[in-house]
Parts: sequence; C-alpha cells; structure tokens
Amino acid sequence: MKKIVVLGAGYAGLRTVKELIRLKADAQIVLVNKNDYHYESTQLHEIAAGTKEPDDITFKIMDVISPKVHFVKDEVLKIDRSKRQVQLKNSQAISYDYLVNCLGFESETFGIKGADEFGLPLIDVPSALAARKHLEKTLANYSKSQDENDLHIIVCGAGFTSIEYLGELVYRLPELIKKYDLPKDKIKIYCVEAGPKILPMLRPNLAKYAIDYLEKHGVEIHTNTPITEITANSVLSKDLSFTANTIIWTTGVKGSHVIADSGYQQHRNRVAVSTDLSLPDDTNEFVIGDVSAVPSPDGRFYPTTGQISIAEATLAAKNIVAKLQGKPTAPFVFNNLGTVCSLGPFNGVAELLLAGHWHLKGLKVAPLKRIVNDRSVLELAHFKTMLESK
Ligand SMILES: Cc1cc2nc3c(=O)[nH]c(=O)nc-3n(C[C@H](O)[C@H](O)[C@H](O)COP(=O)(O)OP(=O)(O)OC[C@H]3O[C@@H](n4cnc5c(N)ncnc54)[C@H](O)[C@@H]3O)c2cc1C
Repeated sequence: MKKIVVLGAGYAGLRTVKELIRLKADAQIVLVNKNDYHYESTQLHEIAAGTKEPDDITFKIMDVISPKVHFVKDEVLKIDRSKRQVQLKNSQAISYDYLVNCLGFESETFGIKGADEFGLPLIDVPSALAARKHLEKTLANYSKSQDENDLHIIVCGAGFTSIEYLGELVYRLPELIKKYDLPKDKIKIYCVEAGPKILPMLRPNLAKYAIDYLEKHGVEIHTNTPITEITANSVLSKDLSFTANTIIWTTGVKGSHVIADSGYQQHRNRVAVSTDLSLPDDTNEFVIGDVSAVPSPDGRFYPTTGQISIAEATLAAKNIVAKLQGKPTAPFVFNNLGTVCSLGPFNGVAELLLAGHWHLKGLKVAPLKRIVNDRSVLELAHFKTMLESK
C-alpha cells in the first residue's frame, strides 16, 4: 500500500487528511505535527492581547482526525528528497510515496538588526503567550519603575496581524489600566509601517475606517517609516525613533525554515509549485499553505492566507487520490470569499464576495468574524469543538 505523509496540522494539513479520508484514498495516511494540538493561527492576536485563552483557540489533533490516520507527534528537521524520507527530531525517519508539505509560517525579520532579539512575534501559541506576559509584566512594572517606556507599546507593521492585534489591544486597555492602576494619559501606542498605507489589501474607505477607529482609541500610526533597527527599548527608522519597553513584531511572515534546510529552490522559504500544487521535479510531492508560492491567473502568486491554504489542501488531496487512481490532476482555482479584519471583538472591516461585492464596517462585522472562525473550526474539527470554543 502507498504511504501519504502530511507534514503540519495547521489549516492546510488538517484539511488535507480530512479530505483524503473523505475521498477514501487507498493509502496509508501519516500526519506529523510538533504539538499534539492544532491552533487557530488567525486568532493568535487575541491570545497576545489577552482577550482569549489558549484553550479557546486550540483543540487536540487526535480528537478530530479519523482513527485511520496515523498521527506522529514530532518535529520535522529535514526532508531528504532523494531518499523520499522525512527526518524527525525524536523518532525514526519516515519514508513516503506522496508528501504533502504544510509546515506553515515563521516570523520574517527582513534581516533588520535587533528584530529577532527584541521584537515579540505572534506566530504560535507560545510566542503569543510570551508577548502577552511581557506586556502585562511591563505595564505592572510601571508602579515601581515610573519609567514611561513601560507604558509605551510599539507595533511594527500595519498588515492584518498588526491591525487585528491593535484592535484587540485597545479593546482590552481599559481593563489593563484598571488592573495595574496606570495613568491613562501617559500610555502611548505606536504603529510603525514601512509602506505608504495600512491594510493595503483592503479598499481605501475600509482602511480609513480602521485608521480612524484606532486613532480614536489612542494609536499613533506612522506610515512611510521603514524600520532600520530594533533595540531593547526602541524602534529606529531613518528620521524617527520611538521608545517603548514592549515591541510587537508583526511585519510579515516567511515559510518554515525546514524548506531551506531541505535544499528546496525557494524564496523566503516558499516553494513555487505547478498549477496542480505538486513540484515540477517530483510530482508526488505537494507543497501547500504558507510554505508554497502558488501561481495565480494574473501571473503573480496568491497571497498566503488561511482561506487559501484550506482551498489548496482540498485540491492537493483530490489530486493525490487522482494519481493513486491513475487519473490526471486538476489545476488550482481559487474562489475568493473575501476578507474580514477585526478591530477587537465588536468591530471590524470586511470585503465580502458572496452574492455580490460587499464592503462592511463597524459593529456588524463582529458576528461575521465569529462566523468565519466558527466555520473554520467546524470544517476542520467537529461541531462539539466549535460549541466549546469561545
Ligand atoms: C494573527 C493572525 C491573524 C490572521 N488572520 C487571518 C485571517 O483572518 N484570514 C486568513 O485567511 N488568514 C489569516 N492569517 C494567516 C493564516 O493564519 C495563515 O495563512 C495560515 O495559518 C497558514 O496555514 P498553514 O496550514 O499553511 O500553516 P500553519 O497554520 O502555520 O500550520 C503549520 C503547522 O505545522 C506545524 N509545524 C511547523 N513546523 C513544524 C515542524 N518543523 N515539525 C512539525 N510540525 C511543524 C505547526 O505547529 C502548525 O501546526 C492570520 C495569521 C495571523 C498570525
């Protein structure tokens, strides 16, 4: 019997194994993930801001996969492509006939000095929790230190993760002020972005709504400000410098380092795949989700998002089953449903492409985000998990 090995149990990996089972793939299926839980990475900013707990956005992998899938909890170190083997940290290497690489994203520092050392990334549950602990410890310290930098927070970047984090942070701020008896007028929150716009992927009126909302809640937004260096308590650009004892690093992501370590031809740890999501030099190998660069009809690559990762996984599973049956594979076609950016639990902006083109902002977006999150949990896991998640 052929063996299909799926690496990573994020959106892409979990959807792949679920689809392989649904399509009754005539193969042994192995899923490898470094933790025994899946986390909803689209909600990490809520853990970091302290509006949700890890239990609200995680579920045990074994609870949601078919017993027909063999789950291995281990860390992938490298893929030996010539031997068709996956090397693991703690167990023996696993051989494969088909590989689906869904190892996901890591923080991208663009080589900026100090970003790795002093920036707090939001890339998984431990890093989001570390950012939250740092923030609370630093705010709590103000009563002793009287150092105003303890009351300053800098968010680097102004894409989705940065803006969603800022939205959650300003929502929680009144509680933090009360908890640590902080002087409200001395708190400063900066958002520092290299490009000319915040949320560049959204229509200008929606981005403007987000800017107005955040500024009204005390966030100082600096666009056209490329960061040149981070220190323990400052963010430096060519003309400006900002000081703070909490620096959140959400400028962008790259693919897993395992990609470079395994010798793939890659750019920022993303591998360019064929239109059927397999690799040109090994058509039994599929690379999807945030480790892939998938060609789009406009000649560029699709952005890396959870929504696209799930769509890619559905096709990768279908194409492997086609190959097992000696049938041709199909190309990736993406049906974009739109984008939702939350501004805390009760506000946000959204562009929806369902029965028309909708531009939504304000309170009505909050239930929408909830529906998107619930739908994702529902599709990846079980109804029970959705009801339990807050
Ligand atoms: C705060 C935030 C908000 C976001 N909001 C949205 C949104 O609203 N909509 C949207 O579409 N996208 C959103 N995204 C992007 C989305 O989260 C990613 O595109 C998506 O998670 C990619 O899915 P994936 O399965 O490729 O990778 P991941 O979700 O990164 O999953 C990778 C899995 O592999 C495991 N893994 C990694 N390395 C190893 C290893 N060496 N060995 C074993 N296991 C390993 C990880 O633990 C993880 O389980 C957001 C991202 C963030 C950070």
